[in-house]
Amino acid sequence: MLAITVIALAVAVAAHPPLQRAVANVVTSCVQPNMAALTFDDGPYMYMDQIVDTLDANNAKGTFFINGMNFDCIYNDDEAARVQRTFSKGHQIASHTWSHAHLSTLSQGQVTSEFTKTQTAIKKITGATPSFTRPPYGEYNDIVQQVASEQEQTLVIWDFDSGDSDGATVDAMKSAYDTLAASHPSNILALNHETRRTLFTRVSRFPPRLTLCSSFPFLEETV
Ligand SMILES: [Zn+2]
Repeated sequence: MLAITVIALAVAVAAHPPLQRAVANVVTSCVQPNMAALTFDDGPYMYMDQIVDTLDANNAKGTFFINGMNFDCIYNDDEAARVQRTFSKGHQIASHTWSHAHLSTLSQGQVTSEFTKTQTAIKKITGATPSFTRPPYGEYNDIVQQVASEQEQTLVIWDFDSGDSDGATVDAMKSAYDTLAASHPSNILALNHETRRTLFTRVSRFPPRLTLCSSFPFLEETV
């Protein structure tokens, strides 16, 4: 049985020290065996608190790649409070850029703005600066990598898609996770969306194969 542990993405980064060129590191999978990262994109949104509570009930911590302006503005009181609560409970807040644009279609200045506005908002709300950015749709090009490097951001993709953004039901998600765990992967970097009523808002306990256990080594947050 694979015991899934919420990964410290820092572990993956540590295995790939900064290169002597102006492109960002790109993390596409976890590097430590028997670990999984549960990531949740596109918030902050109304389900964030539920997901956090489910994770906490299972002694797990998640990584939330949030936008500045997607389903709602991050500066609105409700959203800022959700982000602050999530962070205060030890979960990781990371950037999913400001407007969830296709970064590969933007100018360097526009890409920079997508990064910096989000980082500024996260810093204002949590007091910490994120080090990880997930480009929307997993799309990036040389400009995005260059800007990420300038902004000291590691780009994070994924190696397992729960399917929730394609309309997968909770049962389908659970089945996908069970199938994945039964295949005994070395590790998992899982994509979920906090804007959907996912598996993580519907169950109080994870299925046995998804027993999560981990302390969550905090990352680079600097005040
Ligand atoms: Zn997204």
